[in-house]
Amino acid sequence: AKYVYTFGDGKAEGKADMKNLIGGKGANLAEMNLIGVPVPPGFSITTEVCTIYTQQGHDAAVSAIKEEVEAAVALIEELTNTTFGDKDNPCLVSVRSGARVSMPGMMDTVLNLGLNDLAVQGIAKKSGNERFAWDSYRRFVQMYGDVVLGMKPESKEDIDPFEAIMENLKEEKGIELDTQFTTEDLKLLVIRFKEAVLKVTGKSFPDDPWEQLWGAVSAVFDSWMNERAIYYRKLNNIPAEWGTAVNVQAMVYGNMGDTSATGVAFTRDAATGEDIFNGEYLINAQGEDVVAGTRTPQQITLEGSKRWAELAEVTEEVRKAEYPSLEETMPEIFKELMAIQEKLENHYKDMQDLEFTIQDGKLWLLQTRNGKRTGAAMVKIAVDMLEQEMIDEKTALSRIEPAKLDELLHPVFDTAALQDAKVLAKGLPASPGAATGQVVFFADEASKYENSILVRIETSPEDLEGMNLARGILTARGGMTSHAAVVARGMGKCCVSGAGAVKIDYKARVMNVDGQQFKEGDWISLNGTTGQVYEGKVQTMNPDLGGDFGKVMDLSDKFARMTVRTNADTPHDAKVARDFGAQGIGLCRTEHMFFEGNRIKAMREMILSSTLEGREKALAKLLPYQREDFEGIFEAMAGYGVTVRLLDPPLHEFVPHQQATQKELAKEMGISIDAVKSKIADLEEFNPMLGHRGCRLGITYPEITAMQARAIIEAALNLKAKGVDARPEIMVPLVGTVAELRNQAKIIRSTAEKVFEEKGDRIDYLVGTMIEIPRAALTADHVAAEADFFSFGTNDLTQMTLGYSRDDAGKFLPVYLENGILKQDPFQVLDRNGVGQLVKIGVEKGRSAKPNLKVGICGEHGGEPSSVEFCDSVDLDYVSCSPYRVPIARVAAALANI
Ligand code: ADP
Ligand code: MG
Ligand code: MG
Repeated sequence: AKYVYTFGDGKAEGKADMKNLIGGKGANLAEMNLIGVPVPPGFSITTEVCTIYTQQGHDAAVSAIKEEVEAAVALIEELTNTTFGDKDNPCLVSVRSGARVSMPGMMDTVLNLGLNDLAVQGIAKKSGNERFAWDSYRRFVQMYGDVVLGMKPESKEDIDPFEAIMENLKEEKGIELDTQFTTEDLKLLVIRFKEAVLKVTGKSFPDDPWEQLWGAVSAVFDSWMNERAIYYRKLNNIPAEWGTAVNVQAMVYGNMGDTSATGVAFTRDAATGEDIFNGEYLINAQGEDVVAGTRTPQQITLEGSKRWAELAEVTEEVRKAEYPSLEETMPEIFKELMAIQEKLENHYKDMQDLEFTIQDGKLWLLQTRNGKRTGAAMVKIAVDMLEQEMIDEKTALSRIEPAKLDELLHPVFDTAALQDAKVLAKGLPASPGAATGQVVFFADEASKYENSILVRIETSPEDLEGMNLARGILTARGGMTSHAAVVARGMGKCCVSGAGAVKIDYKARVMNVDGQQFKEGDWISLNGTTGQVYEGKVQTMNPDLGGDFGKVMDLSDKFARMTVRTNADTPHDAKVARDFGAQGIGLCRTEHMFFEGNRIKAMREMILSSTLEGREKALAKLLPYQREDFEGIFEAMAGYGVTVRLLDPPLHEFVPHQQATQKELAKEMGISIDAVKSKIADLEEFNPMLGHRGCRLGITYPEITAMQARAIIEAALNLKAKGVDARPEIMVPLVGTVAELRNQAKIIRSTAEKVFEEKGDRIDYLVGTMIEIPRAALTADHVAAEADFFSFGTNDLTQMTLGYSRDDAGKFLPVYLENGILKQDPFQVLDRNGVGQLVKIGVEKGRSAKPNLKVGICGEHGGEPSSVEFCDSVDLDYVSCSPYRVPIARVAAALANI
């Protein structure tokens, strides 16, 4: 098999669509070569080798690729006119990881590989720049020590041993900045670094470039299994089997002096989606310097630079002198970069995130990929590119990640409240949105408060988990492309970066802003859209759902086959869902209606009565409440079907468990407290989820079903009299045999007829059932004979198919997921192979008996994109989900059908 793919000098063995084999970075490096973008030559080792490495070990992997790698290195040597390991004219490379999808910061890159005590002199002579040579060597030993030799400290409190050595030397010399090190200092650093390596690892630093190369390649493969990578994969549902590729590439140097630079750029604004080329760079810098947040990066375009200066409150003189744009410092290179970014965006037809390096006045591209973006930018870029005729409607839709729309549906700061809020500090608008929460200073403490704001000097990949848990992120240092900013945008999390006025003291767990002190736990608010940081809590308000968002929704409706309903129990929820575009209610739970105010009293009276008369008397009290609730909901959903589920939970959930309430109830009902207690004890069950609930209640107490049916039909008729189009669909829960449904349907239909007679008017209504017991799915042809519709209750169906109690699964599901026994939580993502088969059988058998049977789903899965896709594939008519997930489901339904 072929395991190594080379690229360079306008040729490449790989191309863009080979991401699975050579990783995203390698595939795009190859593609850029093919379309004439300047890229240093190199090669990619395939992801298959990663699998060999993890399954069969280091030696098996090396022997599989040794010859190919040697030939590929020879090609780099030829193209760069250098020799790997040569002392006069050495070939230096970077070793870079690259999975199929980009995993920012997950894998560590080693630069300047190939240097040793001899080669460094060769580089010094060749470049005529001794300081640069030793700076590169110093960086190499440090990176190699950290990444390959495992010297990076495990705990966040410990500082990197190499950084400590540098700090010591700075103190000895009385200097403050890395740039103040002389060549002699750098030589001394290399010696001290190597001593540290020997002391910590017990082995001397490898001088042999080939040993260095194999060490680095192995380290990339190892990093695929490091904790951070595993966590990121879990967060993004990336399978471990994919593996990572390794890219080896000739070095180019951004640190060769004032005619060299390195930078990152976006072809459009990753935060807002605006069609504006933007990015940051640093002169005389290498690799991660721009994103590390240690030096303040400069803007690429003049316009961007001016905007930045305004936000950072830097005067025009200072900006020009200290932070000029690339457009000003290197106008020719800037023009070339502009042309390349346009070429790349037109080629990939998506917003690109670029890495480039300028070596002594020559521009090289080191990476391009589809840029991470916020939900708002995702929507705007898709709509803009459609309107710019770069992409068609289906492509525009496919650019929408349904789950990411979530960010757009949530509140923003209330403009009135903002006027009164006190601005504490101003940073960069790194990732939009509004966040209010309590300050924490350490990522692993983000879960301490329900709403926390992670406040850091700067973030690093170790902080990923905490960043995900926090409501928002505030950093004192770093630019728009800092780690915090990039990761936050990817997560859709509000972030303000580089708020210089914020002084953080990790030890004391406080931050000072302009003399004002904030402790851990104090409230602050962040506006990631403007970069403002506010004191205390700030009121929020609902977002605007028109504009580009509305266009995406219209497109979805054009391409979707299924409709989207909502799960709603109140007129308020129904209205919210209508605004989000829900077409009907797929599940209206009636039990919630029994808890409010006086209703619970009547409900308890009904439950505790031991006679039919007693129950009927209590039910008569409940009837008007129910009717009123239904009127509200039907009216909010006028013109659309509303599926009302009859009483479902075990009665035990409604009775009082406190002595005082029991006493009060006894008094009201005129019975003894002991009678109340014994009745409650009677209701207790060993396994309530499989006990006296669902249609079993309505079968043992038919009067409950009759009351609910009456309330529903009366409500619909009352609305009809007012000219409102109410469309009730009455749903019987927890049916396992057709006889259960027949029993309940008979009560419902006869009650309806009675009401029609009393009112002298009729209305159309449906009677159907939930399919949530496996037996009902398996006998769906029989069940369908009695049903106008089915609704798959996949929460219970999952519980009963897998035999996992929903309420107890928390004890073992995490272990199952960790050990790969389950790939996903089946209560979140529908288990296609198991539960999915029952759904499929249910639909097929049901429609075999009744071809026009209406079928939907109302479990949690109805708003989960991959489950929605499954629902489309088995021909459901609709999915139903909570109001805030309706837009997500609408897009998912469209994506499933294109
Ligand atoms: P990541 O996947 O974390 O972005 P990269 O492999 O892209 O890591 O490398 C990190 C940094 O090193 C980037 O800023 C990149 O520009 C720089 N870099 C990588 N390879 C080279 C090279 N051959 N020459 C110069 N700089 C390089
Ligand atoms: Mg990169
Ligand atoms: Mg159920």
